[in-house]
Amino acid sequence: MTAQRDILDQVCAEVAKMEGPVIEFGLGNGRTFHHLRERLPGRRIVAFDRALAAHASSIPEPENLVLGEIRETAIRFIGIDAALVHADIGTGYEDRDAVTATWLPDLTARLLRVGGIAVSGTPLDHPRLQRLPPPPSVPADRYFVCRRV
Ligand code: SAM
Repeated sequence: MTAQRDILDQVCAEVAKMEGPVIEFGLGNGRTFHHLRERLPGRRIVAFDRALAAHASSIPEPENLVLGEIRETAIRFIGIDAALVHADIGTGYEDRDAVTATWLPDLTARLLRVGGIAVSGTPLDHPRLQRLPPPPSVPADRYFVCRRV
């Protein structure tokens, strides 16, 4: 969580200067959603999950909460020109994360504006996503930071 916050703090400083909403893939109990809301006050954050399980203080407005399989539900947001896509949907199981890697990079590239940033716990290999170095405090193979080119 500390590493995740360090990365989000670093990218939020840049995202704050950019227009466009934030996409939060994996609302979970809402900790990173809450953090992003604090770092980017007033910014629209659209949060996705299979089901709502967030703490009461970290529940998005109904119009910014999208429930269901991200691979299916996020398609209607393509072209939203997001400034940031934060994806926290890794499982730690190689086989499951390998399936995610077949669709998440392309979806992320289509949601971001040019110059927008993606932060993910699973790799984002895609020709339109240029890898950026994470902050020095963060192990390079644990989080993936990319810019949409
Ligand atoms: N970022 C959250 C936080 O700080 O509280 C934690 C997210 S948790 C690690 C991952 C969440 O992603 C789970 O709630 C899970 O239901 C959701 N998730 C994983 N894969 C998904 C998918 N393909 N579609 C929808 N939700 C998914």
